[in-house]
Amino acid sequence: MNELLDAAAERGLAGGREAHRAALAATLDRLRSDCRAGTARELDEGFWQEVDDRLQVLPAMRLREALNATGVVLHTNLGRAPWAPEAIAAAQAASGAAVLEVDPQSGRRGRRERAVSALLAEITGAEAGLAVNNNAAALTLAVAALARGRSCVLARTEMVEIGGAYRMPEVVRSAGARLIEIGTTNRVHLRDYAAALEDPDVGCVLRVHRSNFELHGFTGEPEAHEIAQLCRERGVPLVYDLGSGVLRGAGLPGAEEEPSVAAALQAGCDLVTFSGDKLLGGPQAGLIVGPKPLVEKLRSDMLTRSLRLDKTLLAALEATLSLHALGEEHALARVPALRQLALGVDELAPRAEALATALVAAGVSARVIETAGRVGSGAAPIRDLEGRGVLVEPPAGVEIDAFARALRMGRPGVFARVQDGGVVLDLRTIDPQRDAELQALVIAAAKRA
Ligand SMILES: *Cc1c(COP(=O)(O)O)cnc(C)c1O
Repeated sequence: MNELLDAAAERGLAGGREAHRAALAATLDRLRSDCRAGTARELDEGFWQEVDDRLQVLPAMRLREALNATGVVLHTNLGRAPWAPEAIAAAQAASGAAVLEVDPQSGRRGRRERAVSALLAEITGAEAGLAVNNNAAALTLAVAALARGRSCVLARTEMVEIGGAYRMPEVVRSAGARLIEIGTTNRVHLRDYAAALEDPDVGCVLRVHRSNFELHGFTGEPEAHEIAQLCRERGVPLVYDLGSGVLRGAGLPGAEEEPSVAAALQAGCDLVTFSGDKLLGGPQAGLIVGPKPLVEKLRSDMLTRSLRLDKTLLAALEATLSLHALGEEHALARVPALRQLALGVDELAPRAEALATALVAAGVSARVIETAGRVGSGAAPIRDLEGRGVLVEPPAGVEIDAFARALRMGRPGVFARVQDGGVVLDLRTIDPQRDAELQALVIAAAKRA
């Protein structure tokens, strides 16, 4: 492959090394199957023509690869969590025909998210689990299945707007439930919940994690377990939208204060919802865990069919959950988003030094600086992740914005923060194996700008 990659570069084929690798691998696959079928093929001009044809697709893609040098680990605009290699391989394997809705033992029809449901239960300690398109969908489904045509209670302290016009009061209404607002912006009491639950028409009580802002000053709310107990007494399910969803909550750097799925269940919340592509570190998905009868109620709701996951996403999710099932330490080491969060200055500083030195040697003005990374995606919005990066100044006579644009327009595009008269490359969110590629892209952009 390395020889072919060099040959592709020599021939000046369109696209970068990764695009070449994909085109070469696909063409080689075809060549192998031709050979198996008894049609001999050679690495001749026909081979290269096919590689070239394939390159007309990938390099022209608008949704293409990027290098995230922003230091924001879960960058929504760059696709949130980077997948683990296991998740990528699983998705690829499921992309053709896949054992999706069939039980291979009996050959009979099976449930498509059986494995994911079992893993969710295993990892969180809940009885059952369900996966849908994203957390927004999970929440809409929960409210619709439990309170459609009825009422849903939500405190004014948790009337969150997540972004992209996703606002809790509207979510409740769009799910077909009547919203009962309780408390004030800064305070809500247990008695407010008790008073709302006097209404026999309440289908569920909703709690929403304030994932993108904090409440300070004269504030107050009941504890989760107090609300849970009250709901239990009144026979009304309590749904907790956690958002980022730390599974067990063992001191994830930068996310120590994020409520965990395990803690929410322990406090007595009935259904807990969270995203697959935030702190779980997997593909986009909305995950719901809780007692079997409630999860079944959601599963059998008509909406579930409209919100279901594609086979490749289910495969990537199963792989990611399997990594978590191996234990917390394993997940921290193998799930890229978690690994990036845990990176310390001791690991980032030498990489930043090496990058700055190489850039300077190539005539690009650069120096190491302290960086403040973020978890991103609304999780722990105030917390900085101390890191190291490289401040790159634009070439003489080039505006910073033009330089930043040149970086973004590279293949792959480099996305970084503009700050202090330059572009800051935070190495936290760059795979160490790609430091050299980043370096080459920066040098190329400086030449182009
Ligand atoms: C991120 C978030 C959502 C939306 O989740 P998606 O997976 O993006 O749909 C909903 N609620 C909370 C509290 C969140 O943090």
